[in-house]
Amino acid sequence: MSDQPRVEIYTKEDCPYCEKAKDLFDAKEIEYETYNVTGDDDRFEEMVERANGRKTAPEVFIDDELIGGWDDTSALDETGELDEKLGIADDGDDDDVVEHRKLIIAGTGIAGLTAAIYAGRSNNDPLVIEGDEPGGQLTLTTDVANYPGFPEGISGPDLVNNMKEQARQFGAELKNGIIDTVDADQRPFRVELTNGDVYTADAVIAASGASARTLGIPGEDELMGYGLSTCATCDGAFFRGEDMLVVGGGDAAMEEATFLTKFADTVYIAHRREEFRAEDYWVDRVHEKVEEGEIEIMKNTEVIELHGSQEEGVDHVTLVENEQGHPTDRLDDPETNEFEFDVGAVFFAIGHTPNTDYLEGTGVEMDDEGYLRTQGGDGGGQTETDVPGIFGAGDVVDYHYQQAVTAAGMGSKAALDADEYLEDLERADSSVEEAEPAAADD
Ligand code: NDP
Repeated sequence: MSDQPRVEIYTKEDCPYCEKAKDLFDAKEIEYETYNVTGDDDRFEEMVERANGRKTAPEVFIDDELIGGWDDTSALDETGELDEKLGIADDGDDDDVVEHRKLIIAGTGIAGLTAAIYAGRSNNDPLVIEGDEPGGQLTLTTDVANYPGFPEGISGPDLVNNMKEQARQFGAELKNGIIDTVDADQRPFRVELTNGDVYTADAVIAASGASARTLGIPGEDELMGYGLSTCATCDGAFFRGEDMLVVGGGDAAMEEATFLTKFADTVYIAHRREEFRAEDYWVDRVHEKVEEGEIEIMKNTEVIELHGSQEEGVDHVTLVENEQGHPTDRLDDPETNEFEFDVGAVFFAIGHTPNTDYLEGTGVEMDDEGYLRTQGGDGGGQTETDVPGIFGAGDVVDYHYQQAVTAAGMGSKAALDADEYLEDLERADSSVEEAEPAAADD
């Protein structure tokens, strides 16, 4: 369409956030041009120059204006400003109810998409709201080797895209957007998106996953996207030949460190205590890389500051080390050693926080970290929260297993539980309807 603004997206190969950016514009039916910077030095230089020194893809431009990477683009989308820039902002009354749905599913990760497949097959006509990380965390994973049925493994984005296709085949509708609030004081529930769209729904499945944690240390805000990243798969290749630091001691840290050896001069892992949380499989793989001289492990070590600039990227970090572990809790201990350490890129792999803010005020019980409490146990109703009609599945509930296959299992349970709830609701409604004419006859 010629009257839409010109949208340009710099992309690279194996870049889940680039796919998310493209999905976002596809969902808005906006045409765009893409420039792949992988292996094209001139394009890469052009991107860096136009993006004021940023070296991460995607970089999005609208009519030559720098919008930024995926985080910036989705943040603008959340406030509705992206639609304004694209000339597609809804100028109607924000408070108008757009549509009533039997079932709204929050999230298009593995849990949400599995719920959508099952709910579609049960004729519950699910509307799936993509959330601010469409496709969920698996879109950031290169190879998923342990999802049953794929003996050769499958890439995270491929698995998610297959599930999206399967969900659509069964009648699920996927909509780009982020749920801002769910009002449980009224039935049907009132579900408001951050762009002002409002739906009503008889049931809601919360499958909105969890987002990457950060440390909140000096330098973090300035350098995020300029050498600091929470996604090695996305950004590792940009720092080819540099020394890289991975922070964390779980499976993600081990997997990312192993992956980064493809690009890095040396990968350093900083972990705050002596024992790794990661399973033996990953620790063994990391130790193989240590033997080969590609990874060095720094135990009982934490980062307290990042140094660098948006023009030059990360230059060095300040680390603290204490052999008793958790050195930031022992900064006054004379045994705590503080030192500067040169690295060209830093990757945080320190876990995730559940995305459950939009359920605050609904009465759904959560733990201190924001994970939803569901019924659990044996028999039906395991995914019920303590608000009838709101169900939870995947990483918003599960702080322990957090596997794609367990998320899928919980997604299917939530759809089955929601189906039972919706059937009960329908039965109750129809018995009221039958009783009313009888009462009028009296
Ligand atoms: P985890 O919660 O398992 O690990 C987080 C790591 O970060 C821990 O080692 C933790 O240290 C450290 N950490 C947390 N907060 C801080 C902080 N403020 N400062 C310093 N270090 C910190 O998260 P992951 O993302 O690694 O894994 C989540 C789930 O996903 C797990 O169930 C995991 O098995 C799964 N997964 C599986 C993969 C695979 O098998 N392919 C790959 C990636 C993840 P401490 O140990 O001291 O708490």
